[in-house]
Amino acid sequence: MSLNAHPELPEFDYIRPASLMDASRFLAQHAGEARPMLGGTDIFVRMRDGMWHDQYLVDVKNLDGTDKLHFDPQAGLILGAGVNMNRVMVSPEVQTRYPLLADACRSVASYQLRTRATIVGNICNASPAGDTIGACLVLGGVLDVHGVNGYREIPLAGFFLGPGKTILQPGDIVTAIRFPLPPQGNTGVYLKLGRNTWSDLSIVGVTVYGYPDASAASGYRFRIALASVAPVPLIPRDAEAYLSQNPIGRETIRAAANLAAESCSPIDDVRGSAKYRKAMVKNLTRKGLEKVWESVNRKA
Ligand SMILES: Cc1cc2nc3c(=O)[nH]c(=O)nc-3n(C[C@H](O)[C@H](O)[C@H](O)COP(=O)(O)OP(=O)(O)OC[C@H]3O[C@@H](n4cnc5c(N)ncnc54)[C@H](O)[C@@H]3O)c2cc1C
Repeated sequence: MSLNAHPELPEFDYIRPASLMDASRFLAQHAGEARPMLGGTDIFVRMRDGMWHDQYLVDVKNLDGTDKLHFDPQAGLILGAGVNMNRVMVSPEVQTRYPLLADACRSVASYQLRTRATIVGNICNASPAGDTIGACLVLGGVLDVHGVNGYREIPLAGFFLGPGKTILQPGDIVTAIRFPLPPQGNTGVYLKLGRNTWSDLSIVGVTVYGYPDASAASGYRFRIALASVAPVPLIPRDAEAYLSQNPIGRETIRAAANLAAESCSPIDDVRGSAKYRKAMVKNLTRKGLEKVWESVNRKA
């Protein structure tokens, strides 16, 4: 096998539609040869490396309000698809009410990359390693999607089908992700294990979010999302259920971390072995749960 050490970006047509409807129609008419583009940080790498061969890149960044970040005290946060990660991190509403989102963005590569990269692009790329996806899952994110028949909503938890695969159809454009108001007393952490501290995809990523909840037998609800350990970003439902049903303490946390590790189906790759990944899921989930539990208790 010969490797091209100096690959080049192939030629393509840059399309800037006037409206979302124009964009959806164009994408549907050119299914298989056109794709929506936000920051382009995944797209250009894949095209340069010869993995993607699209003729048309359809820029959807500034169409019909897709660049807006807005917090509503009744409805929660709406994050337009075109909002880059640095904008998310400096938003006062995100910092005070959804700090987990800012932490997840901070874990992505570098300041320079984050001036282009978006959370919605990270989601639509559908990599199991996407660093911001866990936060969006545990915060209950819902996608606004515009297609040839208009708008519809898709809860993020049902969005992923496999590596690089989602339930989106030709012509579909994610225009925003919305988050409900965060519950009282919540805390979240994102623990990312990479090969270096900066600018690497995760070997394992663990997001933990918790808050008091009188409707749970334990009095608390925990949400967990795991990155890089399954074909899709993974929610270990058994571990979450165990934490809602048993009195929270060291042993319950340890048992939940074991359940989280059991739910994974990681692979061996250049970043780590499957065995190592499972062991790290157990360690990081336990650590994340202990941190969140301590903080939730302190706030109570
Ligand atoms: C040097 C480097 C370092 C990186 N480090 C990290 C890292 O640490 N962690 C991490 O998670 N990622 C990392 N990435 C990957 C990448 O930056 C992220 O996935 C980024 O969030 C993608 O966002 P974007 O706006 O650039 O998406 P784009 O590249 O524009 O699009 C990504 C995918 O989503 C589709 N898409 C885009 N917009 C829409 C839409 N509105 N509706 C439907 N589909 C859409 C595109 O067609 C494409 O398939 C890195 C990339 C590079 C080049």
